Amino acid sequence: MTLSSLFSHELDFIDDDEFHEECGVVGIWTTQDAASLTALGLHALQHRGQEASGIVTYDGNQFHTHRGLGLVGEVFDDPRVIASLPGGMGIGHNRYATTGETQLRNVQPLYGDFEFGGFAVAHNGNLTNAQLLKQSLVRRGCLFQSSTDSEVFIHLIAISLYSNVIDRFIDAIKQVQGAYSLVALSKDMLIAARDPLGVRPLILGKLPYSQDENSWVVASETCALSSMGADFVRDIEPGEVIIIDHDGVRSIHPFADNTSSRFCIFEYVYFARPDSVIENKSVYMARKKIGAELAKESHVEADVVVPVPDSGVPAAIGYAEASNIPFELGIIRSHYIGRTFIEPTDQIRNLGVKLKHATNRAVINGKRVILIDDSIVRGTTSKKIVEMVRAAGAIEVHLRIASPPTQHSCFYGIDTPAEEKLLAHTHSIDEMCKLIGADSLGFVSADGLYRALQEDKRNNQNPQYCDACFTGDYPIPLTDHDMQLVKSK
Ligand code: SF4
Repeated sequence: MTLSSLFSHELDFIDDDEFHEECGVVGIWTTQDAASLTALGLHALQHRGQEASGIVTYDGNQFHTHRGLGLVGEVFDDPRVIASLPGGMGIGHNRYATTGETQLRNVQPLYGDFEFGGFAVAHNGNLTNAQLLKQSLVRRGCLFQSSTDSEVFIHLIAISLYSNVIDRFIDAIKQVQGAYSLVALSKDMLIAARDPLGVRPLILGKLPYSQDENSWVVASETCALSSMGADFVRDIEPGEVIIIDHDGVRSIHPFADNTSSRFCIFEYVYFARPDSVIENKSVYMARKKIGAELAKESHVEADVVVPVPDSGVPAAIGYAEASNIPFELGIIRSHYIGRTFIEPTDQIRNLGVKLKHATNRAVINGKRVILIDDSIVRGTTSKKIVEMVRAAGAIEVHLRIASPPTQHSCFYGIDTPAEEKLLAHTHSIDEMCKLIGADSLGFVSADGLYRALQEDKRNNQNPQYCDACFTGDYPIPLTDHDMQLVKSK
């Protein structure tokens, strides 16, 4: 047992006022060392899920699996674990639990033995008709091993009447609704697929140093490619299924009406790593532009622009540049408290934000401060940070948010509280400002956000994004929710 696992009381309470990223996926075809490369990719995608991690490999004869609770570095810290995953093909998954509890049985990749052989699946996103499908599958005799929505893929593939793996896979994805970026591994191929609206990201890369010309990577974000020295090839398109086998890469578009993309706009605001590139746009540059739009839309006289780290940093740089107000690191974030031996008592719970953030009095004292954050969920963190900045001597605190007010829950793979727990759902901006204790509060508008991403004003034309958590315009039916088959948090 490692020291970190001995002291593994995670400070969940610190993060219960943040959105949680969903999951990260990686697939490798084919090198000598798929497990190590998959682990490197998962490590780069750690921001997308910190609760659990897993890898499945195939060595030409049999599949090998290792899954565990914790960070990638903890689950795969022992070199013997990687050594127990031989083979040139592999898929991996980082999990943040959007459905299903955090238990080992819910950790992906999920694996099943089918009549055609072994098959493993890793899923990023959330299905909106999983409960309905599950009810019908259970009636047909399917025995579910986990409580994650992703397991419906395994059962739909198992009961499909088609004979080959690809046809079964396509049969399965045609029955599900919701957001999915999938990687799957059979003994003959690596499969990657995005839902028809491409809500979650998925990219294709190439391993240039491999002896085999036919060596490929699929991953949630380009940052995973950098970590393994791979080259970016392209985004996998919404509704596209990619098959990689010994003959190379093939592409299928099984959805005839695949006309529009509704990529999650919040990936640009917060979820994706800033060094990633999505749809040919640098996430970092997009965030700076959002900050610049925010400065234009809600200018206020002040002495210093201070980001709430880490996710508020690029937007704050953009805000500072556009407003000609100096940028300073007035809040320092501790990167070492993710796991700690401190018990989460109520007293410690109240100290949570202070453990995570500390003020840098030297640049705040006596100043009018513009604080930049990416979003407001419940508002408790914002309130504490404003208090901390005032306590460090700020004479005014103006809070600016690099996204529109989050008024609605996400059903496509981001962990958000029920609507009534979102501060912006129940309060006006003035009321929020008062509750948080800021001198003023401003959000970038939905139009400003679209301008920053260089799209025309929202006009119902392609391309658009999913912006449902700001607008309530859900682009994929919420079947389980509408049938009250899912519980609110
Ligand atoms: S609802 Fe919000 S967080 Fe969820 S996919 Fe849409 S834009 Fe992204």
